[in-house]
Amino acid sequence: MTVVATIIACNKPAANVSKSQSDNTEANSSSQSSTTSTAGEEQSDDEVKYFTISDDIQLRSVTKSEEDWQAQLNEMEYYVIREKGTERAFTGEYWDNKADGIYVCRACNLPLYDSKTKFKSGTGWPSYWQSIDKDYILEDTDYLLGYARTELMCGRCEGHLGHVFSDGPQPTGMRHCINSASLSFIPQSEIDAFMTKLKTQEKP
Ligand SMILES: [Zn+2]
Repeated sequence: MTVVATIIACNKPAANVSKSQSDNTEANSSSQSSTTSTAGEEQSDDEVKYFTISDDIQLRSVTKSEEDWQAQLNEMEYYVIREKGTERAFTGEYWDNKADGIYVCRACNLPLYDSKTKFKSGTGWPSYWQSIDKDYILEDTDYLLGYARTELMCGRCEGHLGHVFSDGPQPTGMRHCINSASLSFIPQSEIDAFMTKLKTQEKP
């Protein structure tokens, strides 16, 4: 994979992305079912992962049936997060959001990105040079556009986030190109309340 190819990948108009994805609907759904074959089943102990957010907040990995995800997410969220779709460039909520705060997974609330690492990429998608914790993000290789790209997924719920490319700014040189539909923004002033809510909701 060359850098040139990856730059073209994320700058490509989203309309083309959608088209190629709808052409591959059948292939997508079959690969989807294989990756989510445990959905809805009880997680055995060795499949459960824990994410330590702070001294008193530990989140457990989330596994749900596709029916449950469909009930929780709206159409666009489901398309992006569960069907690995891509929102059209410059249409999402956060590509131009410059406020201070954190971005959490829209499906499971795992904190994923800090606004301090967000930068203007010109692509029309929220872009970050680093995640809050690399252990919160899963990587996989996809060939949806006919060549290899590194897909990023939420480590907690395995929801699709976007892709990572090696043409980002320093200090990492990486560009996490993320769909707004996969994220919820928590403004700086609301982070404490959000963490309290997270703690209350996630108590075993
Ligand atoms: Zn998640």
